[in-house]
Amino acid sequence: RAKAEGRSTFRFFTAQMQQRSAARLKLEAELRRALDKRELQLYYQPQCNMQGQLVGVEALLRWMHPELGVVAPVEFIPLAEESGLIVPIGMWVLQEAIEQMRDWRERGIRVPAVAVNLSALQFRQPLLVEQISRLLHEAALPAECLELELTESVVLEDPDDALGLMERLHNLGVRLAIDDFGTGYSSLNYLRRFPVDRLKIDRSFVQDLEQGRGIAIVRAIVSLAHSLGFVTIAEGVETPAQLAQLRRLRCDEVQGFLFARPMALLPFEAWLQRHHMVGPDGESWSFEL
Ligand code: C2E
Ligand code: MG
Ligand code: MG
Ligand code: MG
Repeated sequence: RAKAEGRSTFRFFTAQMQQRSAARLKLEAELRRALDKRELQLYYQPQCNMQGQLVGVEALLRWMHPELGVVAPVEFIPLAEESGLIVPIGMWVLQEAIEQMRDWRERGIRVPAVAVNLSALQFRQPLLVEQISRLLHEAALPAECLELELTESVVLEDPDDALGLMERLHNLGVRLAIDDFGTGYSSLNYLRRFPVDRLKIDRSFVQDLEQGRGIAIVRAIVSLAHSLGFVTIAEGVETPAQLAQLRRLRCDEVQGFLFARPMALLPFEAWLQRHHMVGPDGESWSFEL
């Protein structure tokens, strides 16, 4: 009986796996065409300092699938990475983000910087630095307008190569941020040598701020970052209590649903138009446009 059950379980799993891989293949084929069909779109999430001034926006990819609706990155970035599609898609993201910055500048809309996420495979493209340099040049934008977000695993996959690349990007004037800081394997030795501008404190630590240990970890990250000369930005700030704690811990900047979710272009521009935001503490949170 056990044997029969085992066999049927086996059959069940293979059927499920086949189904899943067929679905994956379909999605991969669709993703391959998504760029040409203009189904990819950037959402923008504001980043603010503790005075409520806009310091930048993070560009976050969305796939407007004709049947599935808005597909979040968790659903397709891994697929894009495995298939190599992340290289052309990532290049599109860079182009689009830089083009949008140029457009805002021309229209007098002051967005100080745009942050773009980079995958490991993109980071290993031999012409990456030249391509970024050319895009910035064509848009006549100062390199400081662009920030690249790298995770610890992207950087530490091959730290010596990464260090060289980061130095070339840094020399262009492009800003560098370590994303999801604290969740990967961080080598303090490399951190000291990397030409990084900002550490992004992962959302999981921000969520833990209601507890003693969470506070200790964020305090340690902020202190480490500051002693290395990095700016700290907390990701995933959702509550006034988290904001108050982050302010007490001297974290420099914040990003999260408390202020704004990632928004499509038009809602984001509408958000920008509201010159004055009222902060959770009741004080006026304003920024100039
Ligand atoms: P990430 O770079 O760490 O981006 C932050 C994620 O946290 C975003 O998810 C954002 O929507 C979400 N978030 C922001 N504030 C809050 C908050 O207060 N609460 C909660 N619960 N979540 C918040 P999203 O947009 O789904 O992106 C997920 C990940 O996908 C990103 O994590 C990034 O690793 C990746 N990704 C997004 N766009 C790109 C891209 O253009 N290229 C690459 N390579 N990866 C991308
Ligand atoms: Mg990011
Ligand atoms: Mg992150
Ligand atoms: Mg993340």
